[in-house]
Amino acid sequence: MAPAKTPITIAYGDGIGPEIMKATLAILDAAGAALDLEVIEIGRRIYEAGHPSGIEEKSWDSLRRTKVFLKAPITTPQGGGYKSLNVTIRKTLGLYANVRPCVAYHPFVDTKFPTMDLVIVRENEEDTYAGIEYRQSDDVAQCLKLITRPGSEKICRYAFEYARSHKRRKLSLFIKDNIMKLTDGLFHKVFDEIGEQYPDLPRDSWIVDIGAARLADTPEIFDILVMPNLYGDIMSDIAAHICGSVGLGGSANIGDHVAMFEAIHGSAPDIAGRDIANPSGLLLSAVLMLNHIDQFEAATKVHNAWLKTIEDGIHTGDIYDPQKSTKRVGTDEFTAAVIERLGRKPQVLKAVDYVSHHEGLDQDERPRTTRPRAKKDLVGVDVFLDWHHGAPAELVEIIQNKVQTDDLRLVSVANRGVKVWPGGAAETMRVDHWCCRFLAIDKTSPIISHQQVIDLLQKFQNAGLDFIKTEHLCNFDGKPGYSG
Ligand code: NAD
Repeated sequence: MAPAKTPITIAYGDGIGPEIMKATLAILDAAGAALDLEVIEIGRRIYEAGHPSGIEEKSWDSLRRTKVFLKAPITTPQGGGYKSLNVTIRKTLGLYANVRPCVAYHPFVDTKFPTMDLVIVRENEEDTYAGIEYRQSDDVAQCLKLITRPGSEKICRYAFEYARSHKRRKLSLFIKDNIMKLTDGLFHKVFDEIGEQYPDLPRDSWIVDIGAARLADTPEIFDILVMPNLYGDIMSDIAAHICGSVGLGGSANIGDHVAMFEAIHGSAPDIAGRDIANPSGLLLSAVLMLNHIDQFEAATKVHNAWLKTIEDGIHTGDIYDPQKSTKRVGTDEFTAAVIERLGRKPQVLKAVDYVSHHEGLDQDERPRTTRPRAKKDLVGVDVFLDWHHGAPAELVEIIQNKVQTDDLRLVSVANRGVKVWPGGAAETMRVDHWCCRFLAIDKTSPIISHQQVIDLLQKFQNAGLDFIKTEHLCNFDGKPGYSG
């Protein structure tokens, strides 16, 4: 009996998208993948028809119904007003994990790092990508970096589970918690907490700058790299480039409900319609998809046939090298070569076997962490001012004379994160953005109320000072939850 077909949503995209999707689907079909395709249209035409995110309302229904999306690259039109389709899809559907294998195909594809074989697991929703930005004064714009405990737990748990199911050897965290002690510090803490539950998997951590240098220099020391969104965005492009296979890279964006699979390259409008595009990035994304939907046999068949094609030196123009390749082919001929090799295995490159060694992840089986909420005490407030009338001492004088209340005392003033009062250095550059920190005067009872903050702000207003933002200073289980 033929296996039940899995419904998936596909989009042909723009530029080379239709050519490489057609090639990929032909190979999947020939390999016996049991798929029931729903086609949606995304990208340039949809943007230009007035949909600012490049996707129509009705397409969401298909994605929610099939829960699996194989997406070809799209072209984002030039000019203002257009939103990134990828960011919209990731955020709307909660695709929190971006998984990007970076593998060298030495000696068949040119690379400086013949043994490189790593996977980047990048948090996909939080960090500076939450898109929360403000212009606060004439001089200053701000972007909020959000790292959450549940978000960090999800991505770290995913990474450890991925490592276990894919039989990987270790996980390395890239982080900058020597500077961002609370945000990156939280991510690091959660990575260690979750890691404790996987004693079979060694783990280490790297400050992202030295980690990036080692990644660019000796990538073979890494296996799985885990990181917050911004570092992951940068590192995954570096890793894809140095393994020599940017045109071959596939990626998965995984959520609790929906998963999206796509090549890492763009729509390459410069070569569209010329039968020269390499379909490998989308095809390897489709292999990740077949594993995700438990079609292990088809995944194995497609991946091995592709490896054999690469090994036989049948290469599209982007990776063609007269020293290493035997034949330069176009998209259609490459596709036919892969189909011809279905059922065969590579001899030099390592063959895959997803059937006896499943790489699917059952998301629901992953344990969740539960913990009691911390005791939270409000102990002070930072009031940020837009003020450009003089030196710190003049501002302090106004605050001490007109603002300070009987309950709350000004303890410091900072500018761009540098303390300028008390003390301060003449060399420090200052802008029109001041952080005035207030703590309770009564040290024996340091907890303050929201009403005391409101009274303080009322006095700022009476003094004609332009307060632009407040941040409450809280202790959590007695430990300060603020920097400085
Ligand atoms: P690109 O990846 O499309 O192209 C960069 C270079 O690589 C070009 O020279 C191109 O010809 C070549 N190339 C890319 N894929 C190839 C393939 N499969 N085979 C052979 N050669 C290939 O990047 P770009 O030029 O910066 O962007 C073009 C468009 O793609 C832009 O509109 C951009 O917004 C969009 N884009 C979309 C996605 C996506 O949909 N996920 C990702 C990145 C860029």
